[in-house]
Amino acid sequence: MNVNQAEFIISAVSPSQYPQDGLPEIALAGRSNVGKSSFINSLINRKNLARTSSKPGKTQTLNFYLIENKFYFVDVPGYGYAKVSKTEKAKWGPMLETYFTQRENLKAGIVVVDGRHAPSKEDIQMYEFLKYYQIPTIVVATKMDKIPRGKWNKQESLVKKNLNFQKEDKFILFSSETKQGKEQAWELIEGYLGL
Ligand code: GDP
Repeated sequence: MNVNQAEFIISAVSPSQYPQDGLPEIALAGRSNVGKSSFINSLINRKNLARTSSKPGKTQTLNFYLIENKFYFVDVPGYGYAKVSKTEKAKWGPMLETYFTQRENLKAGIVVVDGRHAPSKEDIQMYEFLKYYQIPTIVVATKMDKIPRGKWNKQESLVKKNLNFQKEDKFILFSSETKQGKEQAWELIEGYLGL
């Protein structure tokens, strides 16, 4: 998708604040500083749209960005699931729980991880969470420009192994510096959106 139009619409906490126009949504999650904003901005050809309303430390909200009047990227706050163990799922931030379990417009989740390292506990929990609720998932391993090409395969295997990555999910090696993986990301996203 070649994006000319991208607009921040709303920071929402409760479902009554979610957009009501019925457009499909793609949710994005990742630890803070992992490169999630850069990933979104790369996809929509912007420098800083995805940062203006999701500054670290701000109250946890779901940030909805309308793209080309066709769908929403929903930026999920970069913290809040860090301390949650599998058995504590019921206590998970009610906002995330509500969104991920009840939002029919949600077509897929994207978990952005740092491709240079093994996934963190939080990354694994986020991926498990999406799997638990049977949400189709794309794992984006970013910052690949920081890793020599000869090690990409090894890193991909490491990330997948630690996540217990499922065959039905999708995996992208990405860099917001080189834009590596951008075409692939759009192809997958458009597929999930049915566009
Ligand atoms: P967020 O908190 O997850 O939204 O992270 P940001 O997108 O703000 O990125 C955090 C830092 O990592 C910033 O300094 C970015 O410039 C840097 N960064 C993000 N993506 C990449 C990437 O693909 N390659 C490199 N080298 N740096 C990146």
